[in-house]
Amino acid sequence: MTATTPGMVCAHHHLYSTLARGMPAPPETPTTFRGILEQIWWRLDAALDLEMIEWSAKLGALEALEQGTTTIIDHHESPNAIEGSLSVIADACAEVGVRVITAYGVTDRHGAEGARRGIDENRRFLSEGRRGLVGIHAAFTCSDETLEAAAALANELGVGVHIHVCEGPEDAGAPERIENLTRDNWLLAHCVHLPTEHDLRGTILHNPMSNLNNSVGYADPARFENPVALGTDGIGADMIETFRVAYVMNRSVDVTATPDAAWSWLERGWDLVPEARNDTVTWSYEPMEPWYVAFTPGIKPLEIVIDDVQVLEDGEPTLVDAFEIRAKAAEQAVRLHARL
Ligand SMILES: [Zn+2]
Repeated sequence: MTATTPGMVCAHHHLYSTLARGMPAPPETPTTFRGILEQIWWRLDAALDLEMIEWSAKLGALEALEQGTTTIIDHHESPNAIEGSLSVIADACAEVGVRVITAYGVTDRHGAEGARRGIDENRRFLSEGRRGLVGIHAAFTCSDETLEAAAALANELGVGVHIHVCEGPEDAGAPERIENLTRDNWLLAHCVHLPTEHDLRGTILHNPMSNLNNSVGYADPARFENPVALGTDGIGADMIETFRVAYVMNRSVDVTATPDAAWSWLERGWDLVPEARNDTVTWSYEPMEPWYVAFTPGIKPLEIVIDDVQVLEDGEPTLVDAFEIRAKAAEQAVRLHARL
């Protein structure tokens, strides 16, 4: 029994974090969201070089394909390897055959010069005609000038902005600072601490597993009028798993919730990246319908066609050697963990 669907879209990913698993424990155990950023993610991203980014992205793209995800909306940061990083990610995904829409997360964490280099990397990549958005890390790590410069670049190039918004309480001031900048093509990741009544335009990206892992609370995206799509925030790209977690979390605050709401968030990815609708994923299961998928473990893709190219056959990638990618990524993980 098989069924086909369009390609799954992971609307918020960090391909640079694929090699983080198994990393050494931080010097201090973080007790706040900001502590998690400082002790884990901001140490990891500072240690990345282009070779690590390449294999991190390839492994992330491979793992996406192996779960039926044909499109990744990526948000990247590597403050000591900025120039060229977006091209490395795009090339890595192209090699595996997965579609990626990447962005460099601009921030003032490394001073105004660091912010300028981030803006320049977005401009360089997009000006080459490659697929992406302008990235901003989050309002709470950016000056008003940087937020305005990133928004202006996006408008100039006719693309949206991909930004973290109110992921933790530290970013509660974001809505007031960006409400006059946002447009309908902006992607607003997390919005856990965003008030239900707000003036931000754009699609809200719900990352249920990451929010649980960071202990930041439940975003309850059903409360918003904005469109909602699903992401992983770097914890793989298994959108069936993400749908299932999104459903049970919705249910945890509303016993009348049905899987249809979380399924509609999954489908919203196709509004963000319409080509994914033309991808074909043949699954090991039927029917691929919300009430069935929510309670059926182990559903896997068997065949995948992206842009008329068969990239998965009998559950195996056709363009790359999965064993080689895992081996090379493991070597880069050893290098990365040694730096930490
Ligand atoms: Zn994120």
